[in-house]
Parts: sequence; structure tokens; C-alpha cells
Amino acid sequence: MNSIKRLLTLLSVMVLIGLLIVIAGWGLSRGAATVLLGIINYGLLIGAIAFFALTFLLIYAIIMLRAKRVIPKLLKNAVKISIRMLYPVLVGIGKPLGYDKKTIRNAYAQLNNHIILSNEYHFRGEEIMILTPHCLQKSTCGLRVTQNPDLCSRCGQCNVNDLVGLKEKYGIQLAIATGGTLARRKIMELKPKAIIAVACERDLISGLQDVKDLPVLAIVNRRPEGPCINTEMDILEVEKGIRHFLKE
Ligand code: SF4
Repeated sequence: MNSIKRLLTLLSVMVLIGLLIVIAGWGLSRGAATVLLGIINYGLLIGAIAFFALTFLLIYAIIMLRAKRVIPKLLKNAVKISIRMLYPVLVGIGKPLGYDKKTIRNAYAQLNNHIILSNEYHFRGEEIMILTPHCLQKSTCGLRVTQNPDLCSRCGQCNVNDLVGLKEKYGIQLAIATGGTLARRKIMELKPKAIIAVACERDLISGLQDVKDLPVLAIVNRRPEGPCINTEMDILEVEKGIRHFLKE
């Protein structure tokens, strides 16, 4: 089962939990012995209704996005906020149900991408930035591509070669960062209007939570030798993302 389908199952469980809390909260509010207890129970009831509504909204949006149906911009924004707010709850509830963080993060990235790909953009090449961690560079290569990707001699042993090719082809910006702090600095310096981020699930989710005002297409890398060394990417997926943002 792919990660989005698993997320839908988990969200359905959350809807049931939310519903039970709403029913329990309503019953407790009616039978509260004191005014204070009544207020607390009503507070819990309102919280549970909000939780229930957010979860329900997310399920609806996922189904619509997967069916490639148009959803209003307001709903897309609400989904972005709800996935941010529900993420810790999803991780908390998902753990005892056998959902690992990687699955939830992967679904989160996919959902984010569904939203980005359902929007239209008309950016220029230089307004688009590809952001990737330096573990993409072949570990035996000593060239300082993190300082300047153009220093790559294009030997073809790693995907930096392909990314430099895309940079030249579309005139985009390319940043290869050694960590989250440097990645944030590159975004501040280069001021892109759209980002294509390639990284592991954990870094992508933390980046998506940091960068709230820009469209970010999140592409999960491949790690044939384990995490953080000689990672790879699907260069066709990256190029598809560039073309989507360009809308040639
Ligand atoms: S493609 Fe560029 S970065 Fe990768 S190993 Fe060759 S020279 Fe180094």
C-alpha cells in the first residue's frame, strides 16, 4: 500500500477517535457537576470538533487531489495548515498503530506535491531554485561544489553533473547545502520564488515546515548506500518540476 493510502487509513482512524471524543465531551458537558468543569468540558469539546473538522478536511482534499479534481485555493491553504498542525498528532497516533515516521513523512511530501502540481505557475528560470544536500556529491570527489556548483567538472559520476546541466538548460539557480542552516541562508541570499528540494524524508519535512510562503516541490532522494552518502535522485522528476514552475 503506498504511503498516501496508508495516510488515508490513519486519518480515518483519527476521524473515529475525534468523533468518540466529541461524543464523550458532549456527554460530560451536559452532566458536569460544576460550572468550571462544564467550561473545561466545553473547551475540550470545541477542540475535538476542530480536530475532527481538520482531519475530515484533509481526507476530502486528499481524495480530490488524487482524483486530479480542482479544489479551491482557500481549501488548498487550509490543507497546508492542517497538515502542518496534524503532523505531530499523526506521528503520535500512528506509532502504536505501526506507522513509522518515514511513511507519514513520505505521504506528507506527496500530498504537498499534489497541491503544488495542481497549481499554475509562470516563473522565470532564475526565480526557481533547486536545493539539495551535499551527500549527493560522490564521496570521493574533492571539488567544492557546495561553494559553487559550477566547479563540478561534469565527470558524470554523480547527479551534480545532471543538476548543473539543468541549471545551464533552464537558467535556474542551484544550491548544494551542507545542512539546514546553510540551506536557509541560501534561500535568504538567492530569494527564489519557487524551490525544488531534494533530500531524505526527514529533511524535506523540516524544510517544508520552515519555508511556509514559497511553493516547494519535495522530491525524496534515493539512498543506495545508506543515509547521507552517495545519494541519488530522479533527475526526470526534477526536470518535470522545473517545467511545471516555468509553465512554458
Ligand atoms: S559529477 Fe561533478 S560533483 Fe559529481 S563526482 Fe563528478 S565532478 Fe564531482
